[in-house]
Amino acid sequence: MKPTLLERRAQKLHLATGIPWAQALKRSRELVPSAPLIPNAQPSQAVLESCLLNGIAWPQSDPRNPWGIRFLEPRPDSLIVTFEEQQRGAHDGSLTQDLIQAVIPRFDEYGEVHGIPGARVTVHGEGVLIRRIGKPGSVIIRGVSAEDWTAALAVQQEANDKHGMTYCHDLSPHEWHRTELPYREPREDTTSGRHHRKMVTSAWLASGLLRRAPLLRTIGVPLSTTAWTNPARNGGCSWIIEYIHEPRVQEPLHHHGFINLLTDPECGLPITTTALRCHCHWLPESYSVCWFDARGVNGRLGTLQVRFSRRSGDKLEDYADEPEDYHARRKLYRQIPSHLMWRSTTRTAGTSRGGGCPADAYNRRHASS
Ligand SMILES: [Zn+2]
Repeated sequence: MKPTLLERRAQKLHLATGIPWAQALKRSRELVPSAPLIPNAQPSQAVLESCLLNGIAWPQSDPRNPWGIRFLEPRPDSLIVTFEEQQRGAHDGSLTQDLIQAVIPRFDEYGEVHGIPGARVTVHGEGVLIRRIGKPGSVIIRGVSAEDWTAALAVQQEANDKHGMTYCHDLSPHEWHRTELPYREPREDTTSGRHHRKMVTSAWLASGLLRRAPLLRTIGVPLSTTAWTNPARNGGCSWIIEYIHEPRVQEPLHHHGFINLLTDPECGLPITTTALRCHCHWLPESYSVCWFDARGVNGRLGTLQVRFSRRSGDKLEDYADEPEDYHARRKLYRQIPSHLMWRSTTRTAGTSRGGGCPADAYNRRHASS
């Protein structure tokens, strides 16, 4: 039976944020039909989320979900992030340890700050509440117990002692520590704040990606998700995401459905695709990466590249060495319903010529090259 408009919107919200189906349906029902399904973060909130993504973008603990995130509940001035269960105890290499390193600000002997500058944390029954001193906005981390958090803090304290680092909150619990001040926007033009300023101009993009992290799972089975930034040519930051995955649907659908929803007017980002490099038609052993590039619209600074690095056949052997982990990852894949795979009226920019899927059009143009 054809899904209703409400069900279609709930499906998009479910896929993009990972929230349970009943919750997605309830949330969609509360919204007026023209409202975006995932609100943009307010500026200060976006900066906080940008700092968080920057910190968790390259996890050491090898979580199963992209960056360890099971689902998110985004609001304009807050974000609740539910992380997956710990696969190991609170020791070096745990997801909680990754989060401590990403969040808790500390400075080294050169005065360089690691973690989220200005962030102070409260642990309570609802989760770990993160706020930046004097700034609106908050992030709540769920899925991590208070015991795990406290234990991981102690482990990090040992690392701090070993590497000459100090928690900012130890010296300045209620004010920004002097080492954090260059990161308090608006701020003076200082060297240490320069990269942060680029991050701030592109915070909308990082926040938007974080809020849609579970959407990556529609590309294929998550094997490894990493991200990093470079300076963008149009100003701001360029975010690069590498999603190593096992495709579960016929190529090239494994990435086009994702692109379709990431640019969807109801649940997507305010971006436009600037390039698409699809090598799905090549022999599997010849190339295993496709990618697409996008940039912000309406004056938003920053660019994005998502790399669809696929593993199949022999290339999967390394992952199948740990069968329990591999099978748990396979369960995380989310297939996009066929009616959400393509948009009949809106083609991906730069790939719009010809009928059929954007990759078909791209491949026709490059068949002889
Ligand atoms: Zn492809």
